[in-house]
Amino acid sequence: MNDYNAVDQTILAQLREITGDEHVIDDPEKLAAYKTDEETNPRYHHLPEAVVFPGSVNEVAAVMKLANRRLFPVTPRCGGTSLCGGAIPARGGIVMVMTRMNRIKEISEQSLYMTVECGARTEDVQKAANAKGLLYAGDPCSADSCLIGGNLATNAGGNKAVRYGTTRHQVYSIEVVTPLGEIVNLGARLNKKTTGYCLEQLIIGSEGTLGIITGAVLKLVPLPPYRIDLLAIFTDVDKAIDIVPQIIKAGINPTSIEFMANNAIQSAGRYCDLRFAHFADGSYIIVTVETFSEDELEQKAVLLDELCSEGGAAEVLEADERVWRLRKAYSEAARSESKVNSHEDIVVPVDSIAAMLKKMNEIEKKYNLEVRTVAHAGDGNIHFIPLKMDMSDEEWEETLDKFHAEVYEYVYSLGGRLSGEHGIGCKKVDTMERFTDPVELKIMKTIKKALDPNGILNPGKIFTLD
Ligand SMILES: Cc1cc2nc3c(=O)[nH]c(=O)nc-3n(C[C@H](O)[C@H](O)[C@H](O)COP(=O)(O)OP(=O)(O)OC[C@H]3O[C@@H](n4cnc5c(N)ncnc54)[C@H](O)[C@@H]3O)c2cc1C
Repeated sequence: MNDYNAVDQTILAQLREITGDEHVIDDPEKLAAYKTDEETNPRYHHLPEAVVFPGSVNEVAAVMKLANRRLFPVTPRCGGTSLCGGAIPARGGIVMVMTRMNRIKEISEQSLYMTVECGARTEDVQKAANAKGLLYAGDPCSADSCLIGGNLATNAGGNKAVRYGTTRHQVYSIEVVTPLGEIVNLGARLNKKTTGYCLEQLIIGSEGTLGIITGAVLKLVPLPPYRIDLLAIFTDVDKAIDIVPQIIKAGINPTSIEFMANNAIQSAGRYCDLRFAHFADGSYIIVTVETFSEDELEQKAVLLDELCSEGGAAEVLEADERVWRLRKAYSEAARSESKVNSHEDIVVPVDSIAAMLKKMNEIEKKYNLEVRTVAHAGDGNIHFIPLKMDMSDEEWEETLDKFHAEVYEYVYSLGGRLSGEHGIGCKKVDTMERFTDPVELKIMKTIKKALDPNGILNPGKIFTLD
């Protein structure tokens, strides 16, 4: 199954015929940019044999048909911001970069939808909706550099998921090129549908292993005109976390509830030169509330203030965009401390976040690791970045493996999962095999084999096939 052919001169010539000469790269120096995405550990890097930039769905389909005839792997790539090695060509072959297919084709203010190509940048999609007084609610922290196709492929979450859901909830339908090179539209612009299997939702979140998403019809919603951001500062981390379910239960319907541990506040604060109160000993809860009336906003802000103050907040402040700058700098700040690090993305039930953080703290201490921690706390999604400080490469890999093993064991004991939004990619294949129910894994592999009998599309991701 995995006996692939090299991308030779004949294949290169055929690729050039499909996309045009200038849209195929095979110069090793230029290929180097595609050996990784945001993954910094060279252990996972892999040089592609060629990179192709298709300009239309028909070109994507033609490349996939060629790949099946000549048996070489294809790794789809949009913005390349994956944090789990998802866009790395783990088994070589070609990387298919979707950036040329970047049009926003239609916005319907009347019927609240937007038709896009997969290479449209997420922030451009958000801005285009906002310009019409509408909201596209997908909002990963990487919105300025990731693309809609990548968001769909990973079911990206982000800051607004607590109110609006993840990317899969923002979609009516997708245009897909199957692993065998057929073109199909899955889903429809309907608010309900029980007409056979929901295949669009199977492809969304499959990390580019079941089909190449070339376009989508996205849902838009009215943009709430009133907004407030509050920063609740706690000196007791347990109290900070305890406030999260209370905010949800109070019916405030916040757009975001984010948590920053003190280690992340200090790291991001130094990186952006931003200091808020309790810089040295605080844990932050950032809450955004958006409403359609000023009165409702006022009421909810008062209620939030009361809840947080009664819940033990040392201070509750009205915040501005600086607090989001701090939160969004989390990844870059950690990277500036140590180029070698590991982005983690576990998810646990919201009522288990406190237990998880406590346990992680114990394990960090046991292995003497420096870790930076934040959470999309409203949906139980904890991000943590262990940093390689004073240790050899061997020590780092060994320590990280042991640290992960204990963390994931605990995550699963709480009913959690390995990833809330970044995905499995090539980084967590072994862990996926270890922690996933064998029957569940067998079903996934059966689906993969049925859709991609030659194992062409993004091999080496999520799991390996025998
Ligand atoms: C600073 C920073 C902050 C981040 N914050 C968030 C966050 O808040 N929430 C979140 O969910 N993620 C976050 N991420 C991770 C990342 O941005 C998301 O996973 C994003 O959805 C990836 O989009 P991309 O366009 O960069 O995709 P890529 O990295 O190019 O690809 C991601 C995966 O999708 C596949 N793929 C790409 N395009 C297609 C396509 N057209 N069809 C089929 N498969 C495809 C790839 O093969 C790969 O497996 C963050 C990353 C960074 C660096």
